Amino acid sequence: MTTPTPEVAEAAEPDFDVIVIGGGIAGCVTAYQLAQQGRTVVLIERGEAPGSKNLSGGVLYCRGMQEVFPDFLTEAPIERHITRNYINFLNAESSIGIDYKDSRLADPVNAVTVLRAKLDAWLSDKCEEAGVFIMPGVRVDKVLTEDGPTGKRVVGVKAGDDELHAHVVVAADGVNSFISQEVGLRTKEPLNHLAIGVKCVVNLPRETVESRFNVTGDEGAAFAVVGDCTQGVGGGGFMYTNIDSVSVGVVLRLDDLTAKKKSSSEIFDHFLAHPYIAPYLEGGELVEYGCHLVAEGGLEMMGEITMDGLVVVGDAAGLTLNTGLTVRGMDLAVASGVAAATGIGAALESKDTSKAGLAGYRAAFDASYAGHDMKTYAKAPGFLEVERMYKDYGDLIGNVLHGVFDHDNTPREHIIKVAYKAFKKSPVKIKHLISDGIAGVRAL
Ligand SMILES: Cc1cc2nc3c(=O)[nH]c(=O)nc-3n(C[C@H](O)[C@H](O)[C@H](O)COP(=O)(O)OP(=O)(O)OC[C@H]3O[C@@H](n4cnc5c(N)ncnc54)[C@H](O)[C@@H]3O)c2cc1C
Repeated sequence: MTTPTPEVAEAAEPDFDVIVIGGGIAGCVTAYQLAQQGRTVVLIERGEAPGSKNLSGGVLYCRGMQEVFPDFLTEAPIERHITRNYINFLNAESSIGIDYKDSRLADPVNAVTVLRAKLDAWLSDKCEEAGVFIMPGVRVDKVLTEDGPTGKRVVGVKAGDDELHAHVVVAADGVNSFISQEVGLRTKEPLNHLAIGVKCVVNLPRETVESRFNVTGDEGAAFAVVGDCTQGVGGGGFMYTNIDSVSVGVVLRLDDLTAKKKSSSEIFDHFLAHPYIAPYLEGGELVEYGCHLVAEGGLEMMGEITMDGLVVVGDAAGLTLNTGLTVRGMDLAVASGVAAATGIGAALESKDTSKAGLAGYRAAFDASYAGHDMKTYAKAPGFLEVERMYKDYGDLIGNVLHGVFDHDNTPREHIIKVAYKAFKKSPVKIKHLISDGIAGVRAL
């Protein structure tokens, strides 16, 4: 008779194959995929309902989600298909923008707007249909560990007075993941890895959304805004159209916000009142307002994502990418959920849920579009720390354009002279243009 390995012995009597902590996108996708494999899964969510505590800007790059749910576009509570992208530099009195509209973004659908309260509720229903046992309104207080042959091993969770055991625990508890901190996979994040997002949803009649944002049918628009909207603090603003509302917000780097002693809500109010933004929202009814941390550290923030008996997914693993043009976290949450389910499935199959047994998760993630993108954009966070992006470049371009378009009855000057004068007034020097240009190309 052979002696069972410690993994097999511990796994003999658990309550579930897998416990997922957190009913956001990462947690729901992991749970759904594992239930589809026939595993017993419980998903524990502290909010009264999945989605009730979640906040996102709202543009979901949806191709990964469609691989998990082939009918996603017809079944899920989607707001609009993004076919128009605006990129704007705001100055105190001007706005300079690029309007990029492309029918190729409509077919196949590339990105959609979503409202998380609706989307997460739909995902949770999908999980339930697939056989996941959902426990809403329950907060996991700690993970249960035992000493294993290779060190500490996670064997379950404690929520209030209840203890639940499983072969694998999934930490899908968001950017502030205290679970991964508790088990020592993460330390307290440095401030430059985090941003604060402040967002509101403003209701407007459907026809008003369509006429103001120049969209029709199920088309939608996404605005990425930098410059005066953040009053010089590193970060940017966004505005996304829903069917009959607009999601609008700012994301502000925490280190810069703290250093400049600014208040995120004041900056947000300033953005909403900006003469370029305010007319889009005029007459609307504020129906939602919230703030949430955003992971901004990119690849540098993504540390270890497995240990004996535990994997970390989504924001909890530091998986977001802010390139300045796009903010992505939801599609990375999907990709990590899919990869985690692959790795966990293989580990359960081989009855080895140690760190080595769960290594298939990291391998599957690294091989996915998300794993590649984390590496491709590894330099983006550093590039976005360049202060000139948030004021000086906008002022410079604004002054050049003002010199070209302002006909004030004085003799016109050649554009080279106008640009030269604008440069002389600006702290931006040619060497900055060259170095920032090179850094931008490398980062993006
Ligand atoms: C202002 C803002 C704008 C953004 N804009 C975009 C965008 O446009 N596009 C995009 O793709 N991404 C965007 N993001 C990022 C995106 O929202 C996240 O990357 C995404 O929500 C991560 O999903 P997640 O499932 O990992 O975490 P979350 O959505 O945070 O889910 C974590 C879940 O865990 C639960 N939980 C936490 N602790 C416990 C516990 N102890 N016990 C039980 N449950 C617990 C929480 O209640 C929550 O439901 C934005 C984020 C912010 C804040």
